[in-house]
Amino acid sequence: MTLFDSPSFANHEGVHAFFDEKTGLKAIIAIHSTARGPAVGGTRMWNYDSSAEALEDVLRLSRGMSYKNAVADLEMGGGKSVIIGDSRTEKTPELFAAFGRAVDTLGGIYYAAEDVGVSVEDIAAARAVTPWVLGLNDGPEASGDPSPVTAEGVYRSTLAVARRLWNQDDLTGLSVALQGIGHVGGYLADKLYAAGAKLVMTDVNTALLEEVAARTGAEIVAPDAIYDVKADIYAPCALGATLNPQTLDRLTVKAVVGAANNQLATPEIGEELFARGILYAPDYVINGGGIINVASELRARQAGTAYDPAWVETKLSRLMETLEEILERSVSERRPTHEIAAAIAEARINAASDLKAAQRRAA
Ligand code: NAD
Repeated sequence: MTLFDSPSFANHEGVHAFFDEKTGLKAIIAIHSTARGPAVGGTRMWNYDSSAEALEDVLRLSRGMSYKNAVADLEMGGGKSVIIGDSRTEKTPELFAAFGRAVDTLGGIYYAAEDVGVSVEDIAAARAVTPWVLGLNDGPEASGDPSPVTAEGVYRSTLAVARRLWNQDDLTGLSVALQGIGHVGGYLADKLYAAGAKLVMTDVNTALLEEVAARTGAEIVAPDAIYDVKADIYAPCALGATLNPQTLDRLTVKAVVGAANNQLATPEIGEELFARGILYAPDYVINGGGIINVASELRARQAGTAYDPAWVETKLSRLMETLEEILERSVSERRPTHEIAAAIAEARINAASDLKAAQRRAA
């Protein structure tokens, strides 16, 4: 299959590959859509087995960013970048400066930020050579670590689901099987615990797991056992594609509400969850708090103002209203939640594209 026939490439505005001989940088930047504004999405550094695998990943992720940014009603399009390499052994400031030069060649149609394997310090190294990066730690507009805001959105989504399924305003008596207690999962665990939930958790980082479990009174299970936990809610906060044909038959929960990106291995899994009566809170809707926080930095920079937590709160509250709309429509239209979320995102992206096309014709 060629790039142009790949279903993941469909509707991408551009894909850019970069190689820097001096630092060994191999990077791909995918721009899915700039209809709603500059494409914004993180940079992932991963030891991909092949450039084909990296390409597939960046294409899937960049489309996801278009949908996430549109659903959160941000004036941003979707894009993503990947650096091929081992983030534990191959990172240097020079590598990220070379990456920054790559981003700079795109002239601001794409903004990079942190993602898996890439830290605030790495982004700061890229910032030295290009203004087109976000998620910094210093300066009045800096938005810092997005994880607490992501966790807050997932927490409020859990409350929304509890209201709907169990008719209660807190989580007293409900059990949550939590997979991954890293940046987002750790904050989420504290919030769920404070709201009365009983937690069962896992992580491959056992030292961190014991620490979080001790402060939240959680029961610990082995990584693979999390799918068999008899809980009310499954909260995936580690990897993508954990909702797949192998795990589906093991889950006995009534709802899936977690932060991980790309939770559904395929869209058919979303249909199957719906058929089984398991409420799936769409991942890119409920984990949008982090990108809202990043967007606040772009907004402040463009306006020459400072980071504004009130703006972040307004956007997050609106996102939660969109979630309510999705959950409501799923019941009234008898359609899976992921389909309704996609329809909302696509309508917003298409409306912006149509408007741009009309403006071009009028000019
Ligand atoms: P993180 O790397 O800090 O945490 C992930 C945790 O998962 C780690 O503690 C890791 O040890 C654990 N883990 C890895 N493999 C595991 C396995 N097989 N079983 C159990 N645990 C495992 O990442 P994060 O920033 O907390 O993000 C978590 C998820 O949420 C990711 O999928 C990420 O893409 C998504 N997300 C994060 C943000 C954000 O603001 N950080 C925003 C949107 C989406």
